[in-house]
Amino acid sequence: MGGLRADQIVHPDLEGRWEGRAAPSSEWRFHRDIYRQRPEAQAVVHAHSPFAVSLACLRRGIPAFHYMVAVAGGTSVAPATPPSAPRRSPTTCQLRWEDRRACHMANHELVAFGETLDQVLAVALEVEGLCHQYWRAGLMGEPVLLSDAEMDEVLERFKTYGKRR
Ligand SMILES: [Zn+2]
Repeated sequence: MGGLRADQIVHPDLEGRWEGRAAPSSEWRFHRDIYRQRPEAQAVVHAHSPFAVSLACLRRGIPAFHYMVAVAGGTSVAPATPPSAPRRSPTTCQLRWEDRRACHMANHELVAFGETLDQVLAVALEVEGLCHQYWRAGLMGEPVLLSDAEMDEVLERFKTYGKRR
């Protein structure tokens, strides 16, 4: 950790050709498919972060227990159904993206995309935090969920959140 050097980074293209000293992870296809399917995606983060993976293994999304689920673009980060064969394209995941910017791959991971690496890393960290908070709240009881109307209002506000006038 922390020792990654630029010459260790592999640069695959969308056709599967790559440059670098080592072959890319077999999971490069997830990234390629997101870039192809979502033109606004300029960066993808895929992480095996512990709380997001825990929910992915339970095949549970994140309900609207907190307004910040809007940061991922929706009330639920839906688990994809194909057990995450790394060579498989996340087709089902893609079908569930809708307006979301983060998705769980069942029994595997968290995948998020955004316009910049900083932005998508922030989304991935927020989603991991939400998974942690959802787990903690569940230890004390069943979280009270926001209504669809409340979440629609938050999602509307998030369209301009942090943007300059
Ligand atoms: Zn993975």
